[in-house]
Amino acid sequence: MRCQEFREMTDSYLSDELLVETNHEVLRHLENCAACRSEFAARRELRARVRSAVKNSPETQINSAFAARLQTNLRAAALERPTVWEKIKVAEFFNPKVLAFAASLLVVALVGAIWLSRSLSNETTIAENNQSNRAGEILQVPIGTVMSRLHRGRKLLRQQLTEYARSFGIAADG
Ligand SMILES: [Zn+2]
Repeated sequence: MRCQEFREMTDSYLSDELLVETNHEVLRHLENCAACRSEFAARRELRARVRSAVKNSPETQINSAFAARLQTNLRAAALERPTVWEKIKVAEFFNPKVLAFAASLLVVALVGAIWLSRSLSNETTIAENNQSNRAGEILQVPIGTVMSRLHRGRKLLRQQLTEYARSFGIAADG
């Protein structure tokens, strides 16, 4: 595994989303590459700090106009092709568990937007370990399905959040 690949997988690794085999490759690279080891530590620390900062501060809550636009776009995308959002019907979307899960997705995806702004990575992130398992329980679909849908949802969130970050001048263009 090369450093570039490692960097692209860091968030997935931290979110416990990788296959066992890929996990091993990541760990092997970590063992042998001091540069990636220190970036990895910094990233993990940043994730934790941003998450708690966003959670604890009212002024960092996502504004309602953006949230509404995001929701509309996600729904539109869900109608085009099957995604994680497909199973979340309108009524279910207001289920507190599902909302909490969606909120945690957004919060941690913000970490990705910040990383984007630093041009260190173009990957957004998903919440804590076992989040996928919980989502699987809530949506009653297999873990593999949750993970592939999360991947799609994350790509979409990345686009949306990059746009949002740009509107605040905190992400580079292009
Ligand atoms: Zn490396």
